[in-house]
Amino acid sequence: MNQSQILLKKYFGYDNFRPGQNEIIEQITSGKDCLAIMPTGAGKSICYQIPALLLPGITLVISPLISLMKDQVNSLNEIGIPATLINSTLTENEFHENLKKILSQAYKIIYITPERFSSDSFIHLLKQLDISMITIDEAHCISQWGHDFRPSYREIANVIATLQKRPILSAFTATATQIVKTDIIESLQLSHPFVLTTGFDRANLQFSVEMPYNKRNFLFHFLRNHTNDAGIIYCSTRKQVDALYEELSLAEYPVSKYHGGMSETARNQAQDDFTYDRTSIMVATNAFGMGIDKSNIRYVIHYNMPKDLESYYQEAGRAGRDGDQAQCILLFSQSDILTNKFLIQQATTSSNSKIEYDKLNDIIAYCNTDKCLRKYILEYFGETPTFEHCDHCSNCLSEIETTDITIDAKKILSCIKRMNERFGAGLVADVLKGSKAAKVKQFGFHQLSTYGIMKEYSKNTITNLIYFLITEGYINTVGEQYPILNLTQSANTVLFQGKQVFIKRKIETEHPTKNTELSYDENLFEILRTLRRNLANQNNIPPFVVFTDATLKEMSTYFPTTEENLLKINGVGNQKLEKYGKQFINAISNYVTQNNISPKK
Ligand code: ADP
Repeated sequence: MNQSQILLKKYFGYDNFRPGQNEIIEQITSGKDCLAIMPTGAGKSICYQIPALLLPGITLVISPLISLMKDQVNSLNEIGIPATLINSTLTENEFHENLKKILSQAYKIIYITPERFSSDSFIHLLKQLDISMITIDEAHCISQWGHDFRPSYREIANVIATLQKRPILSAFTATATQIVKTDIIESLQLSHPFVLTTGFDRANLQFSVEMPYNKRNFLFHFLRNHTNDAGIIYCSTRKQVDALYEELSLAEYPVSKYHGGMSETARNQAQDDFTYDRTSIMVATNAFGMGIDKSNIRYVIHYNMPKDLESYYQEAGRAGRDGDQAQCILLFSQSDILTNKFLIQQATTSSNSKIEYDKLNDIIAYCNTDKCLRKYILEYFGETPTFEHCDHCSNCLSEIETTDITIDAKKILSCIKRMNERFGAGLVADVLKGSKAAKVKQFGFHQLSTYGIMKEYSKNTITNLIYFLITEGYINTVGEQYPILNLTQSANTVLFQGKQVFIKRKIETEHPTKNTELSYDENLFEILRTLRRNLANQNNIPPFVVFTDATLKEMSTYFPTTEENLLKINGVGNQKLEKYGKQFINAISNYVTQNNISPKK
């Protein structure tokens, strides 16, 4: 066993490195700059935390979010690694106390925000410290081409350039296209860095795209079957978050909400409740999550299609960080496309809107594809997966039925034409449905030959079909908030030249979970979960910092009743054994005695 393997076992309780971890650690400890691109949950933290222990001086970790730092510092202190953080939430007194300890070399790892890092007062302090390494976490924030650009990241290299002794630089991110990668290396001025991409594959995630007629019903049905699981539901607007939160609260689900319109206190409270397992469902906009280190998230549902696959994969990737099975479900409706186009028009300048639209088209294609979803994502990120089917995603697990909708398409297209191509999807659907709405009468549309010719459909279905025809390029939208529909050249091929239109619908929505998990004792797991929650409460830390779900499941499989056997469980290191070993061994011993179980080797 080499030194870093010994530390992996001693502090973190793991027997083996995950792909890429050992290489990065070796490169860093031999003095080389590094850039590692590893998916969420791959175990990036260990890649700089173990070198931090091996290097002589202090490791500074620049991290964008305070909540993330807090969790990291908690976790490190739990396993006996001296770490602290510097951020704006510290009081004057706390800051000075902290400073004294930092100067006396009491910490091996210090977390800091990029803003604080480049402040004059910190630069002054920096020059008095022996810094062996500076780690830049979420390094894609440095690039305007990334999706979370943070201008203060740009200052990092300037500050480092003022140091007398240049420390080793290591940068980490979960998502980086080639252009972002180059940008990171150049902006941080990494010197001949060792670059490692471990691949984006997350084999424990089950991807699904669903097009339910009623998203709300789909969601409630799903939640009824997942009452004990923790999960996030992402919505594209604050209004939607508020509405869903109200409904779920009324139905007495343990739910929190999070969006940018809430006060900071309310947001922190919501995040804490979710992190500490006081609530199990988080309904949120994409403002939530970057600082979330919670490893036992079992599902991430996107109630609306997000703006691009980078954001989607990062948000969905918050599920299953502990390596256990988790579901990532995207609820797609054609109207999400218009919402996203509107958001792009609002948010971007004309110079980058082309990129945004291209990215939007890629995620629309993801929602419409009948190929393996996991493969689609990996190819999008430039990988060449060795498998054709993952046998895990909604496309691999369901039969796709193709329906000929030429007649419906003709009805819709000719209705738009008869309304002189001057109205939006809502009114067109009203006319086709045969609605008695005042506006329909006001324009005399009740006298059109297309009035009521789709009355057997719900308005929602007609609207979805209209959006489908927009995606397929038969209808154009003009204008922003209330776009007007007009016909494209391709519409004529359907109306006059006999071109047929097909839509793909998935006919199976129940996904049998592929059972690759350990078959663990669920009753013991529940007992250990309760014990974990109590211990976490006593110590004022999130439950997953005590042990992850994966660790508890392993205990519920092997029933360790001695210290020696408990130490064999992944995730149990020396410090945790000392701190919690007795309680867990007692709980397991009682359980095996009561149930006549003989512990496995
Ligand atoms: P990332 O930052 O890449 O998203 P983390 O560093 O938070 O991932 O690690 C995700 C989870 O995987 C954590 O619970 C961590 O303890 C666990 N983990 C990391 N490395 C290993 C390993 N070698 N063996 C088992 N679990 C690991």
